[in-house]
Amino acid sequence: MGMFIEVSVRDPGFLETGESRKLVAACAVNIFEAAERGVAVNREQEDECTLCGRCLEVAGDRLEIVKLYEKAGR
Ligand code: SF4
Repeated sequence: MGMFIEVSVRDPGFLETGESRKLVAACAVNIFEAAERGVAVNREQEDECTLCGRCLEVAGDRLEIVKLYEKAGR
């Protein structure tokens, strides 16, 4: 689990689709890993997120990058 970033999966079913495999290539810091069925989020890597947005180009609103550090500051 990330301390600063959480990759929130709004549509878990999406990660079981073939299309979700594009996430593995899209993310340069290995937050998405190929799993037996589709893709899994590597929670150990979440804080490496660079906020590049490439995963959101693939997944749209089926994923959300939550900036936990902003919530903590409120
Ligand atoms: S925003 Fe970029 S670095 Fe962060 S999870 Fe998505 S693809 Fe990976």
